[in-house]
Amino acid sequence: MTGTKAGFIRHMGSVALAALIGFGLVAGEAASADDTPAKQIFGKVQLPTNSAPNPIGFYAKGCMAGAVAIPTDGPTWQAMRLSRNRRWGNPAMIQLLETFSQDAAKLGWGSGILIGDISQPRGGPMITGHASHQIGLDADVWFTPKPAQPLSVQAREDLPFTSMLDKSKFLTVNATRWTPTHARLVMQAASYPQVERVFVNPAIKKKLCETWTGDRALLGKVRPVYGHDEHFHIRMHCPPGTPSCKAQAPVTAGDGCDKSLAWWFTKEPWAKPKPDDKPVKPKFVTLADLPKACTAVLAAPAASEQSATFGTAYVAPQPQAGEAAVEPAINTASGDLPDGGIPVPRSRPALQ
Ligand SMILES: [Zn+2]
Repeated sequence: MTGTKAGFIRHMGSVALAALIGFGLVAGEAASADDTPAKQIFGKVQLPTNSAPNPIGFYAKGCMAGAVAIPTDGPTWQAMRLSRNRRWGNPAMIQLLETFSQDAAKLGWGSGILIGDISQPRGGPMITGHASHQIGLDADVWFTPKPAQPLSVQAREDLPFTSMLDKSKFLTVNATRWTPTHARLVMQAASYPQVERVFVNPAIKKKLCETWTGDRALLGKVRPVYGHDEHFHIRMHCPPGTPSCKAQAPVTAGDGCDKSLAWWFTKEPWAKPKPDDKPVKPKFVTLADLPKACTAVLAAPAASEQSATFGTAYVAPQPQAGEAAVEPAINTASGDLPDGGIPVPRSRPALQ
């Protein structure tokens, strides 16, 4: 981009920017447009930029250019909660997820993986959920395997999460749900050299510390964090040749089954704020808080969804009675369903 063009974009301000990316601000809102939370701007963008892939900034403060989408259905994966429009990522992440899904199926994880949020079409902060997932290098994978019978679009919206914790106890894995295959799945994710960290609940990390007999050094990549008991989170290194991507400090050597894990089993991380603690004033991240290049990312021309969908064409297996296939569910009015629109019981695939 030329200096003049970059300067122009810098001076447009978010009102003009909002118009450019296809949503309007009414006159009364214009005065405060610069204070618009960045999550509201990024959350409304429907398509990625039509440009080379580039992660900009940090996992929890950035955006991305040139994202691609993982297809909603693959031979060994399904993307979940399609209405969120968060199946966009750096091509390296989408490639990794496809590879991981095949490896997961091979190690006995159902017929593959269910993929949760990756990133928004241009990354950035999100209106709901996640602090990170902003540069296309984070992805969530469910602790529920992909069932043999594909889930319909509606089932992907509605399927409840399954926690791996025994909620009747403090930070304890549910022994009837957690299996050695769960452990192998997490460690498979950690095994790829391009994976930087894998986030799981502290109870899951503890379980792995107690039971994992494979490469203990790999265990160091698996990091304990709040939540992450119904899904785990894969974070990739900045891909080579992406100087605008800000790397995270590397994990310390060792298996991580140490004081840093023990801390999670003290009261400190779970303590409620004391009444005399000053309330923290919520501070919304605005465009000005993000790397300057993110303003240009928002203004850049869009790619089409088709051109930006990664991977080879895939024809989903024909659904059985009662399960609408993905494309017909999107393209067909409900009255045109093959059964004539008469509601039929929705068969639920057996899930472990
Ligand atoms: Zn996540």
